[in-house]
Amino acid sequence: MYKEAKRPAWAEINLMNLEHNIKCVRDKVGPNKEIFGIIKADGYGHGAFETSEVLKENGVTSFGVATLHEAISLREKGVTGEIITLGLTPSMYASEIVKYDFTPVVGLYENALAISEEAKKAGKTVHGLVAVDTGMGRIGLRPSEQDAISEVKKISQLENFKIKGLMSHFSTADAADKSYAEEQAKKFAEFHEEVKKAGIDISFCTLANSAAIMEMPNTYYDAVRPGIMLYGQYPSDEVDRTQMLLKPVMSVKANIVHLKKVAAGESVSYARSFIAERESLIATLTLGYADGFPRPYSRAAKVIINGAFAPIAGNICMDQCMVDVTDVPNVKAGDEVIIMGSDGKNTISAEDIATATGTINYEIVCAFGQRLPKVYIK
Ligand SMILES: *Cc1c(COP(=O)(O)O)cnc(C)c1O
Repeated sequence: MYKEAKRPAWAEINLMNLEHNIKCVRDKVGPNKEIFGIIKADGYGHGAFETSEVLKENGVTSFGVATLHEAISLREKGVTGEIITLGLTPSMYASEIVKYDFTPVVGLYENALAISEEAKKAGKTVHGLVAVDTGMGRIGLRPSEQDAISEVKKISQLENFKIKGLMSHFSTADAADKSYAEEQAKKFAEFHEEVKKAGIDISFCTLANSAAIMEMPNTYYDAVRPGIMLYGQYPSDEVDRTQMLLKPVMSVKANIVHLKKVAAGESVSYARSFIAERESLIATLTLGYADGFPRPYSRAAKVIINGAFAPIAGNICMDQCMVDVTDVPNVKAGDEVIIMGSDGKNTISAEDIATATGTINYEIVCAFGQRLPKVYIK
């Protein structure tokens, strides 16, 4: 139990493991590539500011977030490095980009124009990335469209908006079959060639996410953009894990706050979703689906207590859940429970929870990061 957590349930964030993972990325891409540390969604639930500090200590000076809102919050906490807003920022917020010196991502001339005009008013120049949609189908100029090159040309001629570089994002780099990802990489390279042929001077390019860092070294260009791998999670179960031992940064733990015997036939949780088949010992934890412990996991869910697995009893509630600890040795109130993590012998990974609930490890760590207090281990 940690007094500073103010709650007997917490996400433990191991910053040594974060450092280990950053070093894995550095070893993989070599000394000459820039690393944009992707810390959107509060550092995938791990705490964006704390993550940025460890990244900075390890030579990372550029950070990627999703939204203007996230970017402002990091600046206000004192992050001085480059902050890239990876999503589109509507033109009505152009003045904020200028004010805080962010690096926006644009996919339209009008958006870049609005930013340029605000920058001019402030006597500044904004450096932004131009997004190219090579097959993700999310944001960016589409190379197949007639005016894509002229759009880049117009952006490049703006007075107070300078193009820092071109970027694109993979849809399937984490799949075993790399054919679509290679096609995207090819489209990106071709578009870059066309841009150069049109006399537009853009040398800087960035394309690779975690999966591409692991398996597509031909896509590193000038800067790579690792997200999930920094947090010690693999981008999918199809990537080759043997090349790199990533260490999970987040564990989720709680203490038993209440322990009781229930008789056979008595029920536990909403909808009487657990009915004791024998006299049982039931422990209560102060952690629920509002903390990222997914309600659809209730039936499959287990936790680790005193070296043994124990099943969740009944539906996970919003802020609490119950555990059937009848078969756990020496169990008592106050005992520490591992919801996600390892005791050295038994492990419950983010992927285990994701697989049981039909989602991906990304969503599990993001969700656990939202309300649980974070305890940082250095
Ligand atoms: C989220 C994101 C990344 C990082 O992706 P991972 O799969 O977590 O490595 C990189 N680039 C962009 C544009 C993103 O949105």
